[in-house]
Amino acid sequence: ALSSKLEIALDRVRGRGRLDAATVDATLKEIRLALLEADVNFKVVKGIVERLRERLVGEEVAKALNPAQQVVKAVSQELERALGGESAGLALTGKPAVIMLAGLQGSGKTTAAGKLAKLLKSKGRHPMLVACDLQRPAAVQQLKVNAERVGVHVYAPVTAGDPVPVARESIAKARESGCDVVIVDTAGRLHVDEELMGQAAAIREAVQPDETLFVIDAMIGQEAVNVARAFLDGVGFDGVILSKLDGDARGGAALSVREVTGKPIKFASIGEKMEDFEAFHPDRMASRILGMGDVMTLIEKAEATYSEEEAQKAETALMSGEFTLEDFLEQMQMLKRMGPLQGLLGMMPGMGKQLKDVDVDDKQVARVEAIIRSMTPKERREPKILNGRRRKRIAAGSGTTVPEVNRLVKQFAEVQKIMKSASKMAGMQGTKPKGV
Ligand code: GDP
Ligand code: MG
Repeated sequence: ALSSKLEIALDRVRGRGRLDAATVDATLKEIRLALLEADVNFKVVKGIVERLRERLVGEEVAKALNPAQQVVKAVSQELERALGGESAGLALTGKPAVIMLAGLQGSGKTTAAGKLAKLLKSKGRHPMLVACDLQRPAAVQQLKVNAERVGVHVYAPVTAGDPVPVARESIAKARESGCDVVIVDTAGRLHVDEELMGQAAAIREAVQPDETLFVIDAMIGQEAVNVARAFLDGVGFDGVILSKLDGDARGGAALSVREVTGKPIKFASIGEKMEDFEAFHPDRMASRILGMGDVMTLIEKAEATYSEEEAQKAETALMSGEFTLEDFLEQMQMLKRMGPLQGLLGMMPGMGKQLKDVDVDDKQVARVEAIIRSMTPKERREPKILNGRRRKRIAAGSGTTVPEVNRLVKQFAEVQKIMKSASKMAGMQGTKPKGV
C-alpha cells in the first residue's frame, strides 16, 4: 500500500522539467502519509518534510531518468541522513570494557546480550554476560542459556535482590576469568517506570559503561519517541539496538529514535537465533521505510546510463509518432546497459508482481538486437520494404531464422501502431505520454 501511494504521488511529477512548489507540495503530502504509515512519529515527519521542501522546490531536473526518481532520491537521501549516515561501531576501551543494555521488558535485551557476545567473540574478544535482571528467576536462567549457546562466561550469582552489587562485582570477576568485555543485562518493565529507571541509572553509575545501549523493539510504533526520551533522560545511553527488524515493522521507530535522541543506531536484531544480528545500515533502512525495494539501485543505474539527450530523443520520436526500428534498437541498447532485464524490472515498485510470470530473456533481446543490426538503415526506417529475399539475408546475417525475423517485424508493427495511437491521443488531450 505504501509504495503504491508513493507511486501515485510520483506520477504527478513524472515528465516535468522543473520541480515547482505545487508539485513538490503534492508529492510531499504523499511522502508525509507514507512516513506516518511507516510509524515515524508525526513531529519527526514534520521536520523531515520541511527539510525536503526547502531542498526540492525549484530544483532543476538534471540527469535523472525523470523528476519522479529525483524526488525519490532526495527523500531517500534525507532519510538516510536522518538515520545517521554511516553505521557506527562500538567504542570499547575499558579493561574490561563494559556494555550495558537497557530497555523495556520484551524489547530484546537478553537476546541482544547473547548476540553481542557472539559477535564480539568472533572478533577475538572474551565476553562475560552479567545477570542484572533480578525481577524474575527465569530472566537469569534465560541469560545463562544464551551464554551457553554462544559459549561465553556468565556471572549470575543471585536470582533476586539488588542488581547493583552484582554489576559492580562483575568487573573484578571478569578480570579473574580473563574476560575483556562485560555485557550487563538489566531488567525492564512493560511501561516506563520510575523505579526501573532509577535502578538502571544506579547500575550505570556503578559500572560506568563504555557503551550503554538502549534496546527498542522496531514494532513499537509511535510510542518509540516517548520511550526513547524517557530512557535518555532517566538512564542515558550512547547508542541504540533496534530489535525484531525481521518482523513486518516498516521501521519508522528507527527514524523517530534517532531524530529525537540524536544517538546512533548501532545494531539491528533480525531474528531469534544468536547470529541474527548485524551492524545497522541507514541506507537499507531508508528504503525499507519508503517500502521501495531496490528503487535506489535502479535510479543509480539509470543515471549512469541514460543521459538526458537520449531521453529527449526517445520522447521526440514517440511524440512524432515516427517510431522506427532504429529507435527500437536504441531503446533496447539503453535497457541493456542497465543490466539484466528481469532484475531491472523487478526493482521497479509495483512492477515485480506483474512481471513475475513474464519471461524477459536477455538472450532473446540479444537476438532481436542482432536482427535489427543486420538490417540496412533504410530497412530499419521502412520495414515494409522487407520482402522474402531481404528477410532471408537478415536471418543469415544475424545467425537467426526467417520465422524469427518475421516475428520481430510483426511485433514491431504492433508496437508502432500502439505508439501512433498513443501519441495521437496525447496530442488531442494536450498532454504527453508518461516516460519512454
Ligand atoms: P528482554 O525482556 O528485553 O530481555 O527481551 P528478550 O531478549 O527476552 O526478548 C523478548 C522476546 O523477543 C523473546 O521471545 C525473544 O526470543 C524475542 N526476540 C528478541 N529479539 C528478537 C528479534 O530480533 N527477532 C525476533 N523475531 N524475536 C526477537
Ligand atoms: Mg531479559
